[in-house]
Amino acid sequence: MCALTSIAPVQSKKAASREAWYEIDLGAIRHNYRQLRRHLPRTVKIFACLKRNAYGCGAGPVARTLATEGADGFAVATLPDAMAIREMGIDLPVLLYPGPLPTSAKTIEALGLTVTVSSLDELESWRAAMSVTRIFVKADLGFFRAGATPQEIGRLLAAAHVCSDVEVQGLYAHLSELPTSVTSDASEQFSRLQRILQDAEASGTRPPIIMMSSTAGVLRHPAMDLDAVDPGALFIGLPETDRPMRAVTLRPALKAISTCLVSVKRIDASLGPIPDIPGFRSGMTIGVLGMGWGDGLPRHVPAQAEALVRGQRARLLPPAHLEHLRIDLTDVPDARFGDQVLLLGQQAHQTISHEEVAAQWGTDLIGLYAQLRDHIPRVYV
Ligand SMILES: *Cc1c(COP(=O)(O)O)cnc(C)c1O
Repeated sequence: MCALTSIAPVQSKKAASREAWYEIDLGAIRHNYRQLRRHLPRTVKIFACLKRNAYGCGAGPVARTLATEGADGFAVATLPDAMAIREMGIDLPVLLYPGPLPTSAKTIEALGLTVTVSSLDELESWRAAMSVTRIFVKADLGFFRAGATPQEIGRLLAAAHVCSDVEVQGLYAHLSELPTSVTSDASEQFSRLQRILQDAEASGTRPPIIMMSSTAGVLRHPAMDLDAVDPGALFIGLPETDRPMRAVTLRPALKAISTCLVSVKRIDASLGPIPDIPGFRSGMTIGVLGMGWGDGLPRHVPAQAEALVRGQRARLLPPAHLEHLRIDLTDVPDARFGDQVLLLGQQAHQTISHEEVAAQWGTDLIGLYAQLRDHIPRVYV
């Protein structure tokens, strides 16, 4: 059976009966939230961004942890993520980033969610579908993504302001992350927002909550705290900047990617010629992991990638398959059917780090979290 010894105290019965799981450290999420809260003025609200199922860590349990810590609201990009939060019995504000459409208006109203509006057309579409429309107006300050342009936003705020069926809860923006050759000028974007706010104040249409800082912004630009911030990556332990102005020590939320040996065999001559693929050789012992590229592992596993079995490093043997991946167990003679295999995490004195896995998967740390699949169970510690 799966050798659960390294994490045995935290295994739920449900997870112990599974073959593969992610181990998520809610203590790390709590720690990261407290790090942020400690640096923010009391008056600044935290709308935790839990998009992509809280970066693969599970929107429901992560939201419950953060709500208990005192988070003021949440922001997500899909209805299933919003539902996962409501299913936890959390009735804090939940902002929907652009994504859901007015065709889902019934569900959105029933769950009491707030939608994003970037244009007059969007405003009218939502109003036509709902009896009361709760909105955050979105401004584009130079990201060239969703959001009204600085030139258009005054008209949008004015139009929303006079609708008795529209509750304008806030206005938000997101600093540009475009990989342009000129380093994107955050202060220029901030001044665009300040001009928008001056005009809104002058016309009496300033929404109650103004929000623009995600993780990089909140760590680098304390002046941009405004009424609320909406970081996401920070809670799973990623600072998203190498030049923080606020000194936070973050802990990774993902502690382990765990799978099992679903088959082990010593190969022999009756199998025919040895495949002329790097890593294959006669007399070797091959293990099969119960996880493949359909479970979030990369389509192309590099030849040097390793995993942990019985506290030892062992080489993965590409190519990966939809549901399976081979591993070279020749140097782990004790390995047996059912043994736990860690693709990330610590076993005995060996550790496979997030950085190592991200490199194996051809991505960065946030990309690693984005690869986590919702059908793989999560075990919370
Ligand atoms: C993704 C996103 C965030 C959170 O970004 P992080 O870098 O994960 O903190 C905040 N606001 C908006 C609009 C986003 O799309």
